[in-house]
Amino acid sequence: MSTAYVALGSNLGDSRRYLSEAIEAMAQLPSTRVAARSRLYRTPPWGMLEQPPFLNAAVQLDTGLSADELLDALLAIERAAGRVREGERWGPRTLDLDLLHMDGVRRDGERLTLPHPRIAERAFVLLPLADLAPELELPGQGKVGALLAALDRSGCEVLP
Ligand code: ATP
Ligand code: CA
Ligand code: CA
Repeated sequence: MSTAYVALGSNLGDSRRYLSEAIEAMAQLPSTRVAARSRLYRTPPWGMLEQPPFLNAAVQLDTGLSADELLDALLAIERAAGRVREGERWGPRTLDLDLLHMDGVRRDGERLTLPHPRIAERAFVLLPLADLAPELELPGQGKVGALLAALDRSGCEVLP
């Protein structure tokens, strides 16, 4: 079994429902358990600024799946939520599931890079991840809590 962290985001349609159904779907994956979930955040758009705000969260999984199997499963859950990849990168989406980190796994491929290469610059990823693992050291980037402390979190809020 290994510990994995997954970031969830949505800014199209019923975002709350997409996120909770995605967590439910991850809990149903073979040899996988949702060990913890973060609070829910509303955050300003990033990358492409003219789009609605995002809802973001993160989960900690205990899983017997390999990193590749887990990525395939996450992409399938996105597709089931109606995610289409077209138009601009970082544009609006019903559901985005990024594999952030998996214990002891480093990868440098286009299909899968681990840890996810853009965690350090994103408050919308680090805020929920810090709920779960503030002490986590991301190889090549740093410690979650310290990375978050260095970022501007304006416009980010916790939702009830
Ligand atoms: P970003 O990666 O900057 O957050 P994005 O989430 O909008 O951008 P997507 O269109 O969702 O990008 O994903 C593009 C591809 O990234 C996916 O098809 C996937 O194969 C690849 N990818 C590489 N590393 C990862 C990872 N750690 N988690 C999820 N997808 C990854
Ligand atoms: Ca993403
Ligand atoms: Ca993604």
